[in-house]
Amino acid sequence: MTKIQSIRGMNDLLPANSGLWQYLEAIVGDVLTRYGYQEIRFPILEQTELFKRSIGEVTDIVEKEMYTFKDRNDESLTMRPEGTACCVRACLQNGLLDNQQVQRLWYNGPMFRYERPQKGRLRQFHQIGVESFGVATADVDAEMILITARLWKQLGISEHVTLELNTIGSPQARANYRTALVEYLQQHFEQLDEDSQRRMDSNPLRILDSKSASTQAILDQAPSLMDYLDNDSSEHFEMLKSLLEAAGVSYTINPRLVRGLDYYSKTVFEWVTDKLGAQGTICAGGRYDGLVEQLGGKPAPAVGFAMGVERLCLLLQELDKVPAAIKTVPDVYFVVSGEQAKTVAFQLAEQLRSEIPVLKLQLHCGGGSFKSQFKKADKSGAGMALIIGDNEVEEGVVNIKWLRSDIEQKTIKSDQLTAFLIEHSMG
Ligand code: ATP
Ligand code: MG
Repeated sequence: MTKIQSIRGMNDLLPANSGLWQYLEAIVGDVLTRYGYQEIRFPILEQTELFKRSIGEVTDIVEKEMYTFKDRNDESLTMRPEGTACCVRACLQNGLLDNQQVQRLWYNGPMFRYERPQKGRLRQFHQIGVESFGVATADVDAEMILITARLWKQLGISEHVTLELNTIGSPQARANYRTALVEYLQQHFEQLDEDSQRRMDSNPLRILDSKSASTQAILDQAPSLMDYLDNDSSEHFEMLKSLLEAAGVSYTINPRLVRGLDYYSKTVFEWVTDKLGAQGTICAGGRYDGLVEQLGGKPAPAVGFAMGVERLCLLLQELDKVPAAIKTVPDVYFVVSGEQAKTVAFQLAEQLRSEIPVLKLQLHCGGGSFKSQFKKADKSGAGMALIIGDNEVEEGVVNIKWLRSDIEQKTIKSDQLTAFLIEHSMG
């Protein structure tokens, strides 16, 4: 029979790697909690209309990357390609933004995009996203960036990531700029790549984001968005820059940074690394003051970012920043033989787990000879084996064997086991 395979670009997370993910998620959760952010969870499936209305019809995501299908009731559903739209939908539906409330939220979960799978680019990938609603001033933009900078520091990757920063101004400023940009690009229409030609009418700003080298060459002489900025956006950007400087976070201005999604305004930023090849953006975000209203809410300013968990894990591995201690190796492996011993070992193991909550104890299940059990004990990576057979049960003792050192085997009374393990088994 042919074996059933997973879907291309959708990976299993195997035990060898799950410790790294847990480590990363624990650090992120901790840092976010320290900044006053709370977790929110929302469904993977949403009405297709949510993403069309927020991300915009003429984007890569909506045009060609969404997993969209009709359910049994003939309703068009989409597996979320990103979290921001879902987060806004959930906030509006549950009244979290009523009365101009401020919300600081984060989420973690799988996203789905039909892309060409490669290193750091998957069809099911994971994002940790952070959003703040209700604050229009640049201090919260700066806070977002400080959160990420602190994360890189805790993860030990600060020296290998750089912050790229830009502002895309108000909708009005962008409209003025758009006119100037289209006028310029029309003169070079024939040299543009196909996607960019198509975007000329629908979404010319996205041409700045084009990955085509010939298009990028033409853009070298194009008018700059910076020259069209409105006062409010300029001041906002100056404030953000001075807050970052005061906090000692360095950045480079990238005037071509526009973000793939249409709902941004003012601040946009990306953290990039040169250690992951073409998939070098590990975190991207910005301000999206128009989105809440666009999705039917009362206008509310907002800013957020999302980081790619797979890319972050790849980077930690690439830089050898995976802590050795995250491996979930047992401290103790419990070897058991004999009918009576099995029952006693079962009770004893539970008792030890209650009395020493930090102890990682693996009890052998499934029987087998002492020899085969010792092989498994050794393979488990545990430092110590506890051994009992029916004789030990009768005498009320347990044998202790060190698996990674030459210390001689020892026999101790069962009622002294807890104290002994606290002293000898861990670390
Ligand atoms: P890219 O230009 O690489 O396609 P994007 O602009 O589409 O990125 P965003 O929508 O801003 O990406 O998503 C935020 C982050 O999520 C990215 O910076 C990246 O780290 C991660 N990410 C996005 N798409 C994928 C994917 N297909 N596979 C793995 N990670 C991804
Ligand atoms: Mg993309």
